[in-house]
Amino acid sequence: MKKVYESIIATGTKNNFSNNLNKKIRLLNIYSLVWSHIVLVFLSLEMFINLIGEVYNKKNISFDFFDLKYFLIHIFIVILLIGVLFINKYLNFKWGRILFLSTFGFANIYAALFISPGSFIEYYFLLMSPIAITLFEKKSTYLFFLVIGFLLFLTPYYFYPVYPPDFVERLLILETVCIFLVLYLLVNYFKKNNTKFEKLLALERDKVLSDKIILERQEAELRELSEFKSHFFVNLSHEIRTPLTLIQGYTNQLTFKESDKENKQKTTIIKEQCQQMQDIINSIMDLSKIESNQFQLISSPVNINSFLDKHYTNFQSLFSEKNIAFLFNDKTIKTNILIDEELFSKAITNLLSNALKFTPINGSVSINTSFTKEGLKIEIIDNGIGINKEDLENIFKRFYQVKNDITKSQGSGIGLAFTKSIVSAHQFSINAESSARKGCCFTISIPKNFISTSINEDSIKELDTVNIKNSLEDKNFKEEHKSTSKQKGKKILVVDDHDQMRTYLKKVLKGYTITEAKNGEDALNILKENNFDLILTDYMMPVMDGETLVKELKKQQNKTPIIVLTARTDQHGKLSMLRLGIDGYLHKPFMEEELLINIKNSINLYKNVKDFDKKTSPEVLKSLNEYADKFNTKITTYINKNIDSPLLTVDTISEYMKVSRSTLNRKVKTILGQTVNQLIQEARLEKARNLRIKDPFASKKQIAEAVGITNTTYLFEKLNERYGS
Ligand code: ADP
Repeated sequence: MKKVYESIIATGTKNNFSNNLNKKIRLLNIYSLVWSHIVLVFLSLEMFINLIGEVYNKKNISFDFFDLKYFLIHIFIVILLIGVLFINKYLNFKWGRILFLSTFGFANIYAALFISPGSFIEYYFLLMSPIAITLFEKKSTYLFFLVIGFLLFLTPYYFYPVYPPDFVERLLILETVCIFLVLYLLVNYFKKNNTKFEKLLALERDKVLSDKIILERQEAELRELSEFKSHFFVNLSHEIRTPLTLIQGYTNQLTFKESDKENKQKTTIIKEQCQQMQDIINSIMDLSKIESNQFQLISSPVNINSFLDKHYTNFQSLFSEKNIAFLFNDKTIKTNILIDEELFSKAITNLLSNALKFTPINGSVSINTSFTKEGLKIEIIDNGIGINKEDLENIFKRFYQVKNDITKSQGSGIGLAFTKSIVSAHQFSINAESSARKGCCFTISIPKNFISTSINEDSIKELDTVNIKNSLEDKNFKEEHKSTSKQKGKKILVVDDHDQMRTYLKKVLKGYTITEAKNGEDALNILKENNFDLILTDYMMPVMDGETLVKELKKQQNKTPIIVLTARTDQHGKLSMLRLGIDGYLHKPFMEEELLINIKNSINLYKNVKDFDKKTSPEVLKSLNEYADKFNTKITTYINKNIDSPLLTVDTISEYMKVSRSTLNRKVKTILGQTVNQLIQEARLEKARNLRIKDPFASKKQIAEAVGITNTTYLFEKLNERYGS
């Protein structure tokens, strides 16, 4: 039954209609359904009561209870209402609602004038404009129905009077108008509000939907990246594991009982395998260097024939092992090209290795060279497994691999990206043509100005400009080094318990005068008698660790810049150290240039501070320090006091400190070295951590509430990130 009603109510709705239109159609169906039920109930009740009346009065049952006119008019209304549903379904809603309102007008006026005149049926016309409001969009339409409703209401009083004249005189027109208007305004007001909320809801829904799409896309990207990462590392490990196994095997076999010759053979293999591993690592490094422009081509004219012939000879045995016909067709004898021989050789080797890898037994591979209109081309052609169209666009991308049985266990997707980078660095171009199962043809095109029997001056110049561009970064780096060597005379105290680490640091910092200390205590003793331009200290040390050393130095008001070196596992100490006011924090392993730049900047900054100190009177300095202390205490106390409130934000703090948001951020950054948000977050994390230590049985929710964070998962993620689980 419920289902029948549901399907009646849904008559005429469609998926491609707007929500609003479907809602109106459903409403019209409900009106028709409810009204037809009321009509049927009325009709049955009326007949039932008449029948009972006749029986009760002991009249002969004469079927007078059955008023045909009354019956017919009610049935007619029901038919009209069913008609509304049909029109909704087969014509459209527009005509359905007009039929409904016409039926409403006709039925009520007929009842008010003829069926039950004088029984105030005309008051139903109060409903006419509210119904119209719910079914129409245009204001003019419901105003029209308001007027029609009102006129129909007046009909039994004035146009077709059914009430006694004195009754008509008593009808207060103004009051009636008011009632009509009030009802109209009320319904109109609710409709407007409803529309507003619906619009807001629709906006929210759209936002959620678009967020969902973004999230799904990001999720797919992440999944792809993660798949790629694991595939890449599996392959890379595989590539490294093979030579490693060989090295291990042969090393174990090395016995000094064997003849020198036998040992020599084995060590040669070990060396070769080491070289192979070195090559893999080098191509990764070279690729990233090329892509970040830290690269310098060392080009010279090279005879293309002998250059390619060398590669041809090197690969011949490998191809014949697989019974692959390997050919070299050169039509460019005596031609020179301007290349970085070592690098270009890597590009050709990559292409030949791929041809070897992807061409099955009994296949054929050839190297062809020939002149073209633009210059010269080198082709490496194979009849191997080929590459299909979709993959062909991507093969030069870094880490891209076509999914097939061979790449499942071999390769890393670097080869062609590396090859392309090399070719482009030379200002040549490379392209690939292929179709699945028909083999591949890789073509390197060399423009005319890079080829000649005697290389012309212009091309050398042109190539030099490439070199200059590529080595620009390199130069900048060298400048940095130069400037550090100018720092000779600047003194650094290196504090580290690890002898080899100190030796290494001394080597890296060869531009500086270095003094060594084995731990914090040792450093403090040295500092009693000496001044330094910078202190470089390890974090974890026996006797006195880096943190205690820094605390002690700060207590002594020592202003020498301090840089802390640390293993990644000490990460949670970073913030407490930064709060103590150190100048830099580097993770091991660090890049030498990163350390050098950090040291140089800190020393320069220190020099500025010293200059400022010299120029500023001690009174001003003192008051500046006092101000910083007061500011620090005030803001920290406020944060700690309100830490349990989720409303603790930059805005509430700036209000409390009576400064603007931006001023507050600037001051906090200068005095405490953090942004206000970081300050709040750190205070929350520290408190949560202390609570966890104090009461290990406290629930996550309790801890989150105590530090003003509503999202428990987020808090514990951050806590684990910072302090470990
Ligand atoms: P990989 O280390 O996987 O060989 P490359 O960058 O050298 O990486 O090659 C990228 C992809 O291009 C490979 O995964 C391979 O599927 C395809 N490819 C390269 N050369 C050939 C070739 N000669 N024949 C068929 N496929 C090739």
